[in-house]
Amino acid sequence: MHHLFKRTFIPILLSGLAAVPSLAQQQPSLLGFGTEAAKKELDLEAAFDKQLQANNLRDWMKRMTAFPHQLGSPYGLNNALFLRDKLVSWGFDARLDTVHVLFPMPKVRILELTEPTKFKASLTEKPLKEDATSAQTKDVLPPYHAFSANGDVTAELVFVNYGVPDDYEELAKLGVDVKGKIVIAKYGGSWRGIKPKVAYEHGAIGCIIYSDPKEDGYFQGDVYPKGAFKNESGVQRGSVVDLPLAPGDPLTNGFVADAQHKRLSLEEAPAMMKIPVLPISYGDALPLLKALGGQVAPATWRGALPITYHVGPGPAKVHLKLEFNFDIVPCYNVIATLKGSEFPDQWVIRGNHHDAWVFGAADPVSGAVAELEEARALGELVKTGWKPKRTIVYCWWDGEEPGLLGSTEWVEKYQSILKEKAVVYLNSDGNGRGYLGAGGSHTLEKFVNQVGRDVTDPEKGTSVIERLRSRTILNGSPTAKQEARSRTDLRIGALGSGSDYTPFIQHLGIASLNIGYGGEDAGGDYHSIFDSYDHYTRFKDGDFAYGVTLAKTLGRSVLRFANADVLPFDFSNFANTVQGYTAEVKKELEAARTKAEDHNKVLGEGRFEAAADPKDPFVNPAVESVAPYLNFAPLDNALVRLEQSAKAFASASSKFSALPADKLKELNEILYKTERKLIHADGLPRRPWYRHQIYAPGFYTGYGVKTLPMIREAIEQKNWKEAEEGILRVSGVLEGFVGEVEKASGVGR
Ligand SMILES: [Zn+2]
Repeated sequence: MHHLFKRTFIPILLSGLAAVPSLAQQQPSLLGFGTEAAKKELDLEAAFDKQLQANNLRDWMKRMTAFPHQLGSPYGLNNALFLRDKLVSWGFDARLDTVHVLFPMPKVRILELTEPTKFKASLTEKPLKEDATSAQTKDVLPPYHAFSANGDVTAELVFVNYGVPDDYEELAKLGVDVKGKIVIAKYGGSWRGIKPKVAYEHGAIGCIIYSDPKEDGYFQGDVYPKGAFKNESGVQRGSVVDLPLAPGDPLTNGFVADAQHKRLSLEEAPAMMKIPVLPISYGDALPLLKALGGQVAPATWRGALPITYHVGPGPAKVHLKLEFNFDIVPCYNVIATLKGSEFPDQWVIRGNHHDAWVFGAADPVSGAVAELEEARALGELVKTGWKPKRTIVYCWWDGEEPGLLGSTEWVEKYQSILKEKAVVYLNSDGNGRGYLGAGGSHTLEKFVNQVGRDVTDPEKGTSVIERLRSRTILNGSPTAKQEARSRTDLRIGALGSGSDYTPFIQHLGIASLNIGYGGEDAGGDYHSIFDSYDHYTRFKDGDFAYGVTLAKTLGRSVLRFANADVLPFDFSNFANTVQGYTAEVKKELEAARTKAEDHNKVLGEGRFEAAADPKDPFVNPAVESVAPYLNFAPLDNALVRLEQSAKAFASASSKFSALPADKLKELNEILYKTERKLIHADGLPRRPWYRHQIYAPGFYTGYGVKTLPMIREAIEQKNWKEAEEGILRVSGVLEGFVGEVEKASGVGR
């Protein structure tokens, strides 16, 4: 899905973190390689770089985006076969690994204003002569939300801003209730699936989501085709499956449908959206919003349409009717392997999805063709006699857009093998011109910095890491600016959800990275018919220089993992990061306590009522629960041990290169399984599929990550008992992790 949030992945804005002294000076120039081996590896990487050709990316993008290629489409299969055949011709053992998944497709879509005036929404995107594929109609999915409920509802309309929980608190203050109403929300502020979920929780019976030109249209820049931004007919499609509950086929959460495991019925599926929901353009939204009465919307809610924004309810009344075909369709993952010569049972896994909402030039083909060029270059290296020590597995996922269906079902299908063999998962998705963006396991933060140090930015000629450092020093938060100068390694973001790394890291505890370039490729094409070859080559990465840079970055990552004597994990940055997260949740708890105490005080004094405008409706807010003092001691103690074990490992690592082969093998097996210790078999409260105890997508943010999720979300939800349980849970998990790091250090002794 590759999301608009990608640009904010790094640098993460941790507050109050002290810089740690760098160990870089004492370490070999290439993490995991001795001096001689490092030289050989760098030569190999130079040979790899020489193979990469931008024209291949261009030709393949043109080919793969010629027709719509969503899950279940004829051209989706055509692309999968194209990928497979290419890979076979380059010496990979490649095949389609097919699973069968639920994919709702729209049958009826009606949205009309019935009162006080009449208007029927067009619900179509208008073709442009400047965009060669936009006039196609065959197999084009019209704008809709996958996994919306069927429904036929008529009700008064309420404008709910972004439709996140805070917005409903604001509405309550205005005396506006959405029970029995249809809500209209703007895109932005959260992942889209949160909006209908929260609307449903507040009693709404339907939900409309539109792209406001302020966030996504003429307020940002010239609109397509003159500029890159969203025009008045552009619509963002997307999935509204309850992703923070579980990705994958919602009828088979946690398993793959087979003879042993039967699918749930639609009614039983907890991740299905419960109300009808539909995306529309700002052209279609304008008459609806214009017809709204009631109070004027709060200042921060107003967009860039030429109207005064009102919240309603009414007098605007709308009729929303949606019907879907809920079909089971084949989902074609393309899996290609190069067998390892020394450790065939250690798998370095690389992936990007190949399905799109429509033509999908940026999302996902820009990443998919870079990945394909990596594979071709690896094939060339094999021809010269090189062999990877570890097995390399290249994957192109199908069905990512509707809810990470292909990758999740594949991970669930092979989970017992993957738990044993997966060393790392390296993901990309959409890619464009700009800065390095990297998120992932912090045990790989130092690794990413070393890879980025060795890749040159095509526009500026510096390393991509140094370019990012400059940008952070200019645009980062005060802490990020200071750290970008004082800390050797730039921080990488933590992973929530939104692309195919999710099942690997969140469900199985496989250390993962998500890498992409962007920031100079803005536009309004996301999930519309205008995410096309024409749009991409005009506005995103016309010469494919950043596509090649992505291939260099991830290809290098694959090569280093496949060849390293000692797998390139590092624990110091991880320890430092988790210390930072802990400081954050402690601060959040303090802030929640102060806020509730202040609130209750002014409430008790009757000040809300005294200050209110008597001409507006007024509702006194409720008394807030005041946070108790929680016992963080177990977590603080675990963090001390974590830091000590990381230091001990760093000093032990100087002796690793002298270890005999059997000891090295033992060491590496411990190393790549350390991340498994960060998952807990019970998963997170009320969402057992998500097992990682350090990173999870937020229950009310969707893609956006919540670190130390059990503790942080319990504090946010004022569930103090669960917060305390979370502290014990995370401490226990970290103690288990420390045990493995100590074991690894011990191998060197
Ligand atoms: Zn994508």
